[in-house]
Amino acid sequence: MIRNTRLYSVLFNKCPRCHTGAFFVSKSAYRKNFDEMHTHCPHCGENYVPEPGFYWGSMYMSYGLYVLFMLGTFLLLVVGLGVDVMHYLLGLTPVLVLLLPYFFRLARRSWLAIFIAPDRSGRGTAATGTEVMDIEKNAAS
Ligand SMILES: [Zn+2]
Repeated sequence: MIRNTRLYSVLFNKCPRCHTGAFFVSKSAYRKNFDEMHTHCPHCGENYVPEPGFYWGSMYMSYGLYVLFMLGTFLLLVVGLGVDVMHYLLGLTPVLVLLLPYFFRLARRSWLAIFIAPDRSGRGTAATGTEVMDIEKNAAS
């Protein structure tokens, strides 16, 4: 149901254009090379690095994700369940450190998904030899 949406590509490590090719090389955020990403989509050839320094903007996405996470957990645990604030803060710190690679990847995918519209025509999801050649021609020019 959410396939072919920006949310799908953000959540499932997929290209924001075709929703098929992988965005990061590693499937897991908890491997040594968690930050290695493809420069182009392995399926449709979409450029993942539109300009130098493009992903500096993803730091704002990362900041927003942390704020949303902390606000949500604060409201749930402290306000909703009555957990002591000091216990909440002591537990929050290691959780935020553990979430760092996951939020890093989520922020990059979210940032790129803002600027690339999903291809809902279905062309990108069923690549043929002709389309691959078109991509290679565009890359060469
Ligand atoms: Zn793609």
